[in-house]
Amino acid sequence: MSELTLLHRGKKYAHASVGNLGGFEGKQFLKDAIGATSCEISFGTLPHGASVPFFHSHKANEENYIILSGAGRFQADDDVFEIGEGSVVRVSTGCDRNLLCTSDVPMTYICIQAKEGSLEACTADDGVITERPSAL
Ligand code: ZN
Repeated sequence: MSELTLLHRGKKYAHASVGNLGGFEGKQFLKDAIGATSCEISFGTLPHGASVPFFHSHKANEENYIILSGAGRFQADDDVFEIGEGSVVRVSTGCDRNLLCTSDVPMTYICIQAKEGSLEACTADDGVITERPSAL
């Protein structure tokens, strides 16, 4: 089981890690550790043949599943489709969802949960290039 570690925290940022995802197991929520205010983020992993032990839906938040490794099937209400490394699945409110790992390697994914319809400015409108000198 990987452990979430808070590595750095400043007034305007936080850096946490669950370590090498190859050894990650289970589910780890990140919002509280990093102080996120706009979304919940979690790492999840399922071994071969495993699914989340329940279907669920959300009342206010959409969820975005980003598959980092492995492969399997995703069910959204009555629709079932194949997913794998590189897949991104957005699920609206009021939609039952679950995922099943069918690959020999564990399926590791990130789930980002945010209030449906809350995004007001995307990167092109919200991002500002600044003149800060690099310290990297
Ligand atoms: Zn959920």
